[in-house]
Amino acid sequence: MPELPELEVLRDYLGPRLDQRRVVKVWTSPKLGFLLRTPADEFARQLTGLTFQRTWRRGKFLVFDLDGQHLVINPMLGGRMQWAPASEKLAQATVFRLTLDSGDELRFLDTVKMGRVYWVPDGGLPTIPGWAELGPDALTVTAGEFSQRIRRHPGELKNLLRNQAFIAGVGNAYSDEILHEAGFLPLRKRSTLKPDDISRLHASTVKVMQSAVEAIRAQPHYIAHKQDRSFMAVHGKGGGACPRCGHRISELTARGENTNFCRGCQH
Ligand SMILES: [Zn+2]
Repeated sequence: MPELPELEVLRDYLGPRLDQRRVVKVWTSPKLGFLLRTPADEFARQLTGLTFQRTWRRGKFLVFDLDGQHLVINPMLGGRMQWAPASEKLAQATVFRLTLDSGDELRFLDTVKMGRVYWVPDGGLPTIPGWAELGPDALTVTAGEFSQRIRRHPGELKNLLRNQAFIAGVGNAYSDEILHEAGFLPLRKRSTLKPDDISRLHASTVKVMQSAVEAIRAQPHYIAHKQDRSFMAVHGKGGGACPRCGHRISELTARGENTNFCRGCQH
């Protein structure tokens, strides 16, 4: 599941490639077109001929501005953007492809069919479900905003970090990484945190986001639609050794999602 760091690097990768490129052709999948929140024929008709102006990110939404309108992708569990020459074989999971005047294509793939694609007019972003409630970005949230906003959320720390209305951009994987960095157990209640603990959680949040962006940027074989998270400390490393204390990394599974943490150094 792409979260803030993956989308941040993706934006940097796609932005310059898409800048001032015109969409000459739009294809939507007959099987997967239902992931588009706009009827497929309408989507194709409206995007054809438009020019990419800006690629940006808000939390876990990736936004492409085309002639003042917005193509917004919320990748959810398995959505991926692919950058490919038009001649490249189409992956099974392709939802749409935009052929550009450069001969390249921007494609959206989704193997788990949960991603969401919105096409909204200028001023229409707040109509996207979840958009209006988004909290400050986890990469840039200040200590003051963090400690002020956290008071409204008394529950478990893992859920808190994933709550997009608290801070935007953190999901299942990076919440594990942040809690490991901070030394707190995922099911610990926010109400047990002292002011120093909250400062520590804030610092860990920003640090984990920044270092993940750097780690992904440094990957020598970066491919936009692939995801390499081998740099992570605990997430996806259940049964392995904690890089900080050597204790065995624990794993809990709920609703098909894994939570990983270390009982040795998280309290
Ligand atoms: Zn540990």
